Amino acid sequence: MSEKTVRSLQMLTWKHAVGVVVWIGAVVLFATTSNAYYAGLGASVGILALLGLGMILVTGYAGQFSLAVGAFYGIGAYGSTILTVKFGWYGLLALVVAAVVAAAVGFALARPLFRLRGHFLAMATLALTEVFYLLVNNSSYTGGSTGMGGLRPLDVFGFTFASSQSHMILNWLIVGVVLWGALMLRRGREGRALLAIRGHEAAAASAGINIASSKARVFTASAVISAIAGSLYAHQMLYVNPPPFGLATAIDVLMIAVLGGMRSPWGAIIGAIVLELLNQWIESALPGLLGSGAVGAGQQLVVGLLLVVILIARPDGVAGALGSLFAFLRRSIDQRRHPSPTPGSLVESVDESDSGSTDMASLRRAEDADGAERTPGDLVLEATGLSKRFGGVNAVSEVSLQLRAGEVLAVIGPNGAGKSTLVNMLSGNLAPTAGSVRLGGQDTTELKAFQVARHGLSRTFQTPCLFEGMDVEATVKVGAHLRGSVGMLRSSVPTIGALNEERRLALETADVLERLGLAELASRDAKALSLGQQKQVEIARALVSRPKVILLDEPCAGLNKQEKTSLMQLLRALGREGLAVLVIEHDMEFVMASADRVQVLNFGATLRVGSPEEVQNDQGVIDAYLGVSHENEPVTTTTMTVVKKKVWWKR
Ligand code: ADP
Ligand code: MG
Repeated sequence: MSEKTVRSLQMLTWKHAVGVVVWIGAVVLFATTSNAYYAGLGASVGILALLGLGMILVTGYAGQFSLAVGAFYGIGAYGSTILTVKFGWYGLLALVVAAVVAAAVGFALARPLFRLRGHFLAMATLALTEVFYLLVNNSSYTGGSTGMGGLRPLDVFGFTFASSQSHMILNWLIVGVVLWGALMLRRGREGRALLAIRGHEAAAASAGINIASSKARVFTASAVISAIAGSLYAHQMLYVNPPPFGLATAIDVLMIAVLGGMRSPWGAIIGAIVLELLNQWIESALPGLLGSGAVGAGQQLVVGLLLVVILIARPDGVAGALGSLFAFLRRSIDQRRHPSPTPGSLVESVDESDSGSTDMASLRRAEDADGAERTPGDLVLEATGLSKRFGGVNAVSEVSLQLRAGEVLAVIGPNGAGKSTLVNMLSGNLAPTAGSVRLGGQDTTELKAFQVARHGLSRTFQTPCLFEGMDVEATVKVGAHLRGSVGMLRSSVPTIGALNEERRLALETADVLERLGLAELASRDAKALSLGQQKQVEIARALVSRPKVILLDEPCAGLNKQEKTSLMQLLRALGREGLAVLVIEHDMEFVMASADRVQVLNFGATLRVGSPEEVQNDQGVIDAYLGVSHENEPVTTTTMTVVKKKVWWKR
């Protein structure tokens, strides 16, 4: 075994081995010491936990609210029943084929379904569950509302799963496998992609993530898990009828996920157990409190109320609360062991008094003299006649632009000049109304953001687009998506190759964090940082993919003088390394010091392109900023805000 492999395998620590042993031990112990009633209960809680895991993948990881679980659960149960009873198939084969059918149906429906979002998606997926219910309820082939019987217990290589105890062991071992896969997935490339989609779709797409395909794959995985749960159910009940696959089950599974917590796969296990205990308690306590007739309605009432309370108090569910508790305990233990000062933020480390040495213009002159002459390289990004209309607004009209390798181009202009719109068209986040974009010699006008990213273009956003609940390291690692290729299945197992790749991505991410001075913040929640730090995290995320072109939309917002100077030096260095840099910025001192060329936009059109000096002395540009030579144009509030900002170089 190579050293690389050994190091990767170390990512699976002894904790994983202990976890597996404890899991198996606990399941076997519970099953063998329980009577048939409790073992049966345990078996059905296992099935609910499986369904919960399927829902957490789609709704918790990818953030897509789906209630299709009933339909796929039913496809598994009815599929297995039909194949074994009507066609005499071997049970295990029927289980596999039913899961394949669910996968095919899930994959085929995913693309049309995921054109919808939010409650529209919830409604459509709920309709799917309802359609399935109506189909089996009204078809004589499936026995209508009476259902179908005649199944035999599952038999695997000679062992027959006939007793409740064996059901419980089988179900919870499968739950263990799926839980493991879900936990591993979350730590890998594809899981991060799903969390990124949940956090911010445009930012995920700009990192090169094919959103439609990722959603389709996770939906398919969830369909397979639900179908396996359905097959297990059928082989244990030996009889299926429509009610368990309807709306009520979808709502129950949603309850489980919310109760346990959507953010962690543990939520499904905790949720399923808590819901069952709750139901048991209600069944025994309610008749005493409200009279025996109250159980049905009272049960729904109590569970519903509890759901509301949890959603308000702990939206991340019981698993989330436990997670915070564990994190708190771990922090206090760590602190007791090695008391250390908390990492200082970037802002605190700044020494403002040292302004003489951070004069950007002189730093730039010194660097340019040092680096001798730089010859711009090939044309890598070219826009011709780009226009964008928003209703009656010509946000960008006929803008052409050229960017060469090794060059820093600044795009400046008053607020509302169309700078961000231009960048959005270059990066594929917005489709142009007219004009074309060529990237690395290829026409990318019609391509989507993730495809443009695959051609070597990275970007940051004017308002930082970070991902909810992700730390700085993971956020930046999302940017490394295109540096890897491991998919859902390989990272869930995970294979040696997947572990090797993950370790490489971690190293590449650490390098970029180091370069941007973000290493100390690696484990901090990215969304909780200051604006300036968030902007730097975005730059790191854009750089880690090793792009050919990088577009930065107002990267200086929220940065102090020293941070701006470092950023200026970073851009100059990136240029020297051959990267093509386009930067939108308002801070003129920064622009003059960092750019090789400046393109000025005003009212959506190019006003001037030239060297920083040429632009600086251009009367038209000065007027645009002061808003004086446009007597024919109405003076809008956006131009007025610019008028109030003095043009610094003509003070
Ligand atoms: P800048 O980045 O230069 O400040 P923008 O590109 O954000 O300017 O905006 C240019 C113009 O387009 C503005 O008038 C703005 O109101 C308009 N605009 C930008 N995005 C949209 C949108 N999604 N829908 C409608 N109008 C928009
Ligand atoms: Mg803008």
